[in-house]
Amino acid sequence: MNDCIFCKIVAGEIPSSKVYEDDQVLAFLDISQTTPGHTLLIPKRHVRNVLEMEADLASTTFSRLPKIARALQKATNAVGMNIINNNEEIAGQTVFHAHIHLVPRYDEKDGIKIEYTEHEPDFEALGKLAAQIANEVEA
Ligand code: 5GP
Ligand code: ZN
Repeated sequence: MNDCIFCKIVAGEIPSSKVYEDDQVLAFLDISQTTPGHTLLIPKRHVRNVLEMEADLASTTFSRLPKIARALQKATNAVGMNIINNNEEIAGQTVFHAHIHLVPRYDEKDGIKIEYTEHEPDFEALGKLAAQIANEVEA
């Protein structure tokens, strides 16, 4: 067994507050509780993050999101929810076992602010970049 904290949670070696489990995935309350009900959804199989996921594992894992999100919303009466996934340290990943955050939102003062900086669009550059990315998409 590796040193991964989420693998240890899957194996039951570290306790967690489980909200959903099946043979492929586990969802449990995030210890930080950014807002009440903050939940993590993880594949049971260890993979570093989405950048290293095979399509099959992604399909399985992400397919569970809507029903867990709905259950979380019902249970907490959240008004909305941010569903967030961090990949690599620069993007805020601190645990290197893939996970998806479900963060219920209650009001504007619940302490969360996600901002996307806007840049003046350069449509020629956008076109080139889109083509470059499209060229890299695996068959
Ligand atoms: P990241 O920053 O990698 O996207 O998110 C990792 C999350 O895992 C953090 O929000 C952190 O609070 C949570 N976390 C770290 N260790 C544990 C733990 O032992 N138990 C639970 N339930 N959550 C943890
Ligand atoms: Zn792991």
